[in-house]
Amino acid sequence: MKYKIPFNKPFIAGSELSYIKQAVDFGKISGDGAFSEKCHHFFETHYKIEKAFLTTSCTDALEMAAILLNIQPGDEVIAPSFTFVSTVNAFVLRGAKIVFADSKVEEPNIDETKIEALISSKTKAIIVVHYAGVACNMEKITAIAQQHNLFVVEDAAQAIESTYTFSDGTKKYLGSIGALASFSFHETKNVISGEGGMLAVNDTSFIKRAEIIREKGTNRTAFFRGEIDKYGWEDIGSSFLPSEITAAFLFAQLEQIKIIQQKRKALWHHYFQLLLPLANAGKISLPFIPNYAENNAHIFYIICNSSQARRNLISYLKEKGIYTAFHYQSLHKSAFYLKTNSLKTLPNCERYSDCLLRLPMYYELLPEEVIYVSEEITKFLK
Ligand SMILES: *Cc1c(COP(=O)(O)O)cnc(C)c1O
Repeated sequence: MKYKIPFNKPFIAGSELSYIKQAVDFGKISGDGAFSEKCHHFFETHYKIEKAFLTTSCTDALEMAAILLNIQPGDEVIAPSFTFVSTVNAFVLRGAKIVFADSKVEEPNIDETKIEALISSKTKAIIVVHYAGVACNMEKITAIAQQHNLFVVEDAAQAIESTYTFSDGTKKYLGSIGALASFSFHETKNVISGEGGMLAVNDTSFIKRAEIIREKGTNRTAFFRGEIDKYGWEDIGSSFLPSEITAAFLFAQLEQIKIIQQKRKALWHHYFQLLLPLANAGKISLPFIPNYAENNAHIFYIICNSSQARRNLISYLKEKGIYTAFHYQSLHKSAFYLKTNSLKTLPNCERYSDCLLRLPMYYELLPEEVIYVSEEITKFLK
């Protein structure tokens, strides 16, 4: 076997351990110390997020979002079905009913033209997921939300460093547009801390309460700032903040973000160029990036012509030492959702569940490995 190419390898910047040692030497290892502050500052200045709150995961950030929006039993939220369970579980935990929207024909993101028909008097929020770091149509979605008085939550778990350009030319980073947004630093993402996440608060009216919910429902953060002389129980909440060890690891990564992104984007474009002839021959489809979106090369995927074609390709590539992965199973067809909801068809979402295949994509992937993977795919499908 010429190569052995895993699906993912976590990126290591090199300074993680010395930053963790610094955090330990400072004698402040619990949350919201100097490294958390550096990470918050990075996100607020680079991405124009009003207030950044590191969390222990993106899942936690989404749970905070659901609490902040005061989601009550019986409320409805609209979300894509082609996503990770955490996007919607956070809202189900508060008693919400999830109303799933289909993906678009040309890309896995939520089809904004299908949203309005799903809005009812009980709808509270639209949750969007920027799949593969490619922006949803935020201008249209924001307009629909405003018109119907709904909140927009961005699940930006995969979308660090990606942007959306509005029709007036204004460019914004993903995660800075919705009232609230979540990010993930799980080891499968572009920038990592093992497990880790962040809640971005862009609607400033949520900042004060977010601080309390994140600190177990207490006003301890205001106490540490010296604004009050004792802290107490103010609200519901949980322990959503990560330790300084996690923040130190993350900050080491954030310092390298330009280098990480340059490398990943080069690999992404290399795949795209090499696989274009196959796409032109109708053997596969390639990712579609709308004009308003700037892609962060989080995932490189191809879409096979059938689930059988995908299955055959996965086993062929495995024999060649290449590890690939399909992605989400449609949530609207999951056993859990069908316990309380009736079966409906979301054809585009189901096609991505059946036919989308993710190729190896990580910082250390070599250009010759991209060539090898692309050649093997071409050999098999031609
Ligand atoms: C990774 C991911 C999550 C979950 O992130 P964690 O940090 O592991 O909780 C949620 N939503 C999407 C779209 C993701 O890709």
